[in-house]
Amino acid sequence: AGGGGGGYGGHGYSEERSSARRVADHYSARSNQTLEERENSPIIHLKKLNNWIKSVLIQLYAHPGDCVLDLACGKGGDLIKWDKAKVGYYVGVDIAEGSIKDCMTRYNGDTDQQRRKKFSFPARLICADCYEARLDEHLYEDAPFDICSCQFALHYSWSTEARARQALANVSALLRPGGIFIGTMPDANVIIKRLRETDGMEFGNSVYWISFGEEYAEKDAVDCPEWVVPFHLFKLLAEEYDLELVLTKNFHEFVHEYLQKPEFSELMRRLGALGDGRQDQSTLSQDEWEVAYLYLAFVLRKRGQPPSQ
Ligand code: SAM
Repeated sequence: AGGGGGGYGGHGYSEERSSARRVADHYSARSNQTLEERENSPIIHLKKLNNWIKSVLIQLYAHPGDCVLDLACGKGGDLIKWDKAKVGYYVGVDIAEGSIKDCMTRYNGDTDQQRRKKFSFPARLICADCYEARLDEHLYEDAPFDICSCQFALHYSWSTEARARQALANVSALLRPGGIFIGTMPDANVIIKRLRETDGMEFGNSVYWISFGEEYAEKDAVDCPEWVVPFHLFKLLAEEYDLELVLTKNFHEFVHEYLQKPEFSELMRRLGALGDGRQDQSTLSQDEWEVAYLYLAFVLRKRGQPPSQ
């Protein structure tokens, strides 16, 4: 997930449904990679770093027995992370039919890469547009959730104010009081700073490319429309839905801070994202590290007291 380039474009309201459809088709078309294809990807270390960041967020905020809502769950790349956190129930929602099918396959343990025991929690997987539909109408039997996660995907809701609001309304309606919302998305401050330093409307390096106002196709990258989320507006809008900011950190800051903690540096070592410290193929390249700087992690909390046990 993440680490791709994309077109940061402005789209009119009338084009709205079709742009959501294009995002869905884009992700549906991305087939499950084999282990070998994955290891040979030019952004393999960035993918590992992204997985480390998501794992740290989950380990910091999930509790055994938690009821989890994974918005834009994709192919279920985080199922193992939730399993390690010993959660009690999992609901995954994604707009891409292909991804939901892959997620189901992964949950059932049918893929080549999945020679592992079955997941210890029951799960429900749903194909829906998380930023258009009123999810509480679909999930009233599953709610309230203790924790909601939206990884590398919340910015897709910022194509219109109505969708950005529906995304937050869904999270707020489905979380219990005191429930936690964790996520990752592009860091608008960094992206706009980079744009200002650039002549023209596009920039990038060997592993990503961002083009404002038009789409750009790139191999092994996210070649679909994406949106910039000014974080101060996101924070203000979230407050309207009773979601208070707990934490926001650019990925560089996040890595520096949590790598200090022995349990997370051990996890990083096991994942191999930062290699063994040598400047060779075994470690994150400078260009991948530059991509990491374009993202941030956030944590919000639903106002109110958790129900007493
Ligand atoms: N969260 C997963 C992960 O971290 O591995 C997948 C991240 S992938 C970069 C972005 C995901 O957002 C895709 O699976 C895509 O289908 C999903 N997505 C985009 N717009 C969506 C929407 N409106 N409703 C639900 N899912 C959406």
